[in-house]
Amino acid sequence: MTDNKKQLNPDTVTAQALGWLEESHKGVIPGIFPSTTYEREPDGDYPSGRVYSRDHNPNYDQPEKILCELEQGSDALLFSSGMSAALAVIQSLRPGDHMIAPQVMYWSLRKWLVTVGASWGIDMSFVPNGDVAALKAAVLPGKTKLLWLETPANPTWVIDDIAAWAEVAAEAGACLAVDNTVATPLLTQPLSWGADIVMHSATKYLNGHSDVLAGALITKKDDDFWEKVKVNRNAGGAVLGPFEAWLLLRGMRTVSLRVQRASENALTLARHFHTHSGVEEVLYPGLPSHPGHEIAARQMTGGFGGMLSVRIKGGEGAAMAAAAKLDLFKRATSLGGVESLVEHRASIEGEGTPCPPDLLRLSIGIENVQDLIEDMEQALGGN
Ligand code: PLP
Repeated sequence: MTDNKKQLNPDTVTAQALGWLEESHKGVIPGIFPSTTYEREPDGDYPSGRVYSRDHNPNYDQPEKILCELEQGSDALLFSSGMSAALAVIQSLRPGDHMIAPQVMYWSLRKWLVTVGASWGIDMSFVPNGDVAALKAAVLPGKTKLLWLETPANPTWVIDDIAAWAEVAAEAGACLAVDNTVATPLLTQPLSWGADIVMHSATKYLNGHSDVLAGALITKKDDDFWEKVKVNRNAGGAVLGPFEAWLLLRGMRTVSLRVQRASENALTLARHFHTHSGVEEVLYPGLPSHPGHEIAARQMTGGFGGMLSVRIKGGEGAAMAAAAKLDLFKRATSLGGVESLVEHRASIEGEGTPCPPDLLRLSIGIENVQDLIEDMEQALGGN
C-alpha cells in the first residue's frame, strides 16, 4: 500500500481512495477479506497486527483512513449503522451523566434517548435549535458530559452554529459530537469548528447508492473518551461486514460529485418552489430567507446539501395527496442516495414529533433537475 503524504483535496482523496493498491495483485481496488480470524506466530505474536475481525478487518482500513482525511481527524471507526455509531458515543456516558441535544434531530435517535437512554440513567436536556442562550442555560456544571448536535437538522433543516456549541462544550468540559450525515465532510468539517467527534450515517451520502447500512465516527483526539468508544465497538460488536465495507468504499469514491450535484439540484428546486402557489414554505438553508442561512453560508462550503422540505398549502391531506402523485420521486424513507425520495415525516415520526403535518421531506438525487421540477409541478397541480 502507498500512503499519499501530500495534502490532497477531498475530491481527489475520495476519487483515488488515497491511491492505495491491493498488495497481493497491485489491483487499484481492494479485495474483500472475509476471514474472521488471523494466525498467531509460534512465539505468540500477531505479525499482521490483526487478531479477530470484530475490530481488525482489512476492509475497514481504507474507508476509515479516508474519513480521517476528509474530516481532519486522528482516528475513525466504521460501524454497522449510523445508529450503532451514535450509540457507541452515548453509551460511553455513565449513569447520572448529563447530555444535551437539540429538539429537532434524527427522530429515532431522539426516541432512543428518551426511552432506553433515560432508563439507563442518562440525564437528558433538549434545547431549541439555534438558541445558544438556551444551550448555555441547560449546562449542569460538573454533570454535563456530552453535547450532541445535528446540523442541518432533520427534517426541518434548522441550522446550529458548531463553533458556538464547541465553545459551550469546552467551557463545560464536555465532549461535542456532531452528526454530519446531511452536510457530509465535503460541505462541513465539524472538527475544524471545534467539535470533538463527528458521526455519520454512512448509509446516506457517503455510500450514496441506498445499498449499504453503515455508520462511522471520527475523532479529533485519541483521548480517554475515544478509548471508551473503541471498547464499545469492539465489545458491542456492532461492526460492518467486509462486503458492506467494500461497497461503502466504492460509493465513497464518487461522493464529491454526487454531493455537488445533489446540492445544485436542491438549490434549484428550492428557488423554483419557494414562491409556488401550492407551497406554504420551502425549508432549505441555501435560501436567504432561511433563518439559519447566514450561519450555514459561513459553516458550509461548496453548497447547502441535498435535503430540503416543503410545506404544502392545504395541510396534511394536501401533502399526502402531493406525495401520492409524485412519480420520479420514490415514496421511501432515508436520504443521500442518487435517486430522489419523498417522505411524509410526521406520520413516520408519530406522536410528539416537532415535524409539521404539512411537511414533505425531499432527498434530492442526481437526476436532471428539470425532470424533478416537472414531477413536482404535476404533483402540485401546476403553477
Ligand atoms: N442520523 C441521521 C441524520 C439520519 O438521517 C439517520 C438515518 O436516517 C441516522 C443518523 C441513523 O443512521 P442509520 O439508519 O444508518 O442507522
